[in-house]
Parts: sequence; C-alpha cells; structure tokens
Amino acid sequence: MASGFDDYNGAPDPRGATAWMGTRPGMNDTDILALFRASGALLEGHFRLSSGLHSTGYLQCALVLANPTDATALGAALAARVRQWRPTVVLSPALGGIVIGHEVARGLGVRALFAERQDGVLTLRRGFTLEPQDRVLVVEDVVTTAGSTRETIEVARRAGAQVVGACSIVDRSGGTHGLASYAALLQMSLPTYAEVDCPLCAQGVPVTKPGSRTTK
Ligand code: ZN
Repeated sequence: MASGFDDYNGAPDPRGATAWMGTRPGMNDTDILALFRASGALLEGHFRLSSGLHSTGYLQCALVLANPTDATALGAALAARVRQWRPTVVLSPALGGIVIGHEVARGLGVRALFAERQDGVLTLRRGFTLEPQDRVLVVEDVVTTAGSTRETIEVARRAGAQVVGACSIVDRSGGTHGLASYAALLQMSLPTYAEVDCPLCAQGVPVTKPGSRTTK
C-alpha cells in the first residue's frame, strides 16, 4: 500500500488522521502503531497544540515508553536495525532519549550513556566517559529537525570517539534529517496548520487539546 510524503498533499489522509510511510523488516509498522495507540502515545483527531497550531495527530513517545515491556520491545527492534554498524556504546540526549537509549543498549549488549545540558551546552556529566576506540550510536525518541541528534554527535566527537550512526523510534523529519547513517522504526507525518488554514476546522470538527480526551 503506497503512502507517504511523496504522495501526501496536505489533506487529511482518508485512512485516518495520520499519514504513514515506510515498511521495514522485523517488528512491523502495524505492531509498533498498535503499541503507540494502546498507550495513548499517538492520538488522532483534531488538536490545538501548545504552539497554537492545529494538527490531525499528536505524538508523545514518553507514553509508549512508560510500559517497560513495550520500551524493551522497541529497543530490541531498533537494535536489530543498527547492529550492522557495530556500536560499542549508546549515547542519548536527556531527557527524551534516555529510556529508549537504555533499551537499545540492552538489545545491543553495550553501555548506555546520556548527555545533558550544562549552561545550555550538551555535555557528558556524572562520570560518563568516551574513549577514542568507542563506536558511538546516538539514540533519540523522535527526530524532527535532527538538531539534538547533531548536538549529541558533537558531544561524542569532542570526546574523541567515533560516531557510527544515529537512530530513533520515530522519524518526523520528512526525509530532511540529513544524517548519513540513520535508522528509525517509523516515518511519520503529522501536518500542522494555522487555524485559518485548518481543513478540520473548515469541516466544523471540534478541536481539543492533546490529553484532554482519549481517542481509540
Ligand atoms: Zn483546526
């Protein structure tokens, strides 16, 4: 079933509020989507985001990762897709990347480190160290602009380590991440609209704030 950014014209997808693309081996997209929906991590409907923009969907990865069994399954699925790069350590940006980074590291059998901000700069703290022989995998929950992924890559390089790739559960970049070695379980398009341009407003669909109700 062909679908995705290339044929996505900005109108609400007839199969639902969210347009999807990408099928990958291993844990399949249907399985992953079922986890997201069951946990409330993916809401489909008509939402007013904190930015004021309207959207047909809302994603909160923390909700799917709140179930340790699901988090482990997602980590194992990502680990299977990046094992070919032979990473020896995972590095994640705090806070969003920590849980999934730990689970990917569990799947790979390597250490899980995280970087956090100190005076606005992403930094290794808490005694975490990287060595020149380390092959670093950067792990995030969601990649949108890839800004924090690049910052995390820089943390590893400043420490003298080699970065072998990056991965995330969800790729929301629409193919614009620009990362050389990158894997994701799902590509997702959740278009946003100014209220005046919102097709669901035009149809008179009531708008809600994410989290103010549950959708199936
Ligand atoms: Zn609207």
